Amino acid sequence: MVECRCTNCGRLLRIRDEYAGRWGRCNYCQARVLAPARAPSEFIHKVYKDMDNRGTRLTDLTDAQTHWTLLRTTGRVEAGLVAVFPRMIDAREALLGVDCIHVAEDSGCLIATEPIVFGHYELNDGSHEAVICAEGLQPVHFEQAVRSFTRHRGKPRFQRALTVHRSVNA
Ligand SMILES: [Zn+2]
Repeated sequence: MVECRCTNCGRLLRIRDEYAGRWGRCNYCQARVLAPARAPSEFIHKVYKDMDNRGTRLTDLTDAQTHWTLLRTTGRVEAGLVAVFPRMIDAREALLGVDCIHVAEDSGCLIATEPIVFGHYELNDGSHEAVICAEGLQPVHFEQAVRSFTRHRGKPRFQRALTVHRSVNA
């Protein structure tokens, strides 16, 4: 069974699987209704809130410079990707091409469900830099970022793949 609401009368309709994804008539008001193609549970995406963020956001150039300075002085090595985009929307969309980055429903801000450093911010010349990096950046997220940054025509400024992947328990 799949369930959906009639778009005309709003009543809950229970539809046999063989009619999923097909047009039919509402039992109550006879309006034409398109039954969902799959069970509704498969359509439910997790809704993220701002408090779900596990990452460190870089929201302006000062944040970013502080981060790079900190890395230099501590000698830590991060895998990651930095690229420059002409528009803010491109930088944001590029970041959203990575599985662990989402839009928080409540704040509209980007959140990360992994402990990564990420964000986008305006540079002095008005272009926008997007960053994703972490000591333990997962190869899959690195590769998604490379593809997504390229797809959104980011000009790469820094790119370092992870050579040693740390175990979660290390
Ligand atoms: Zn109806």
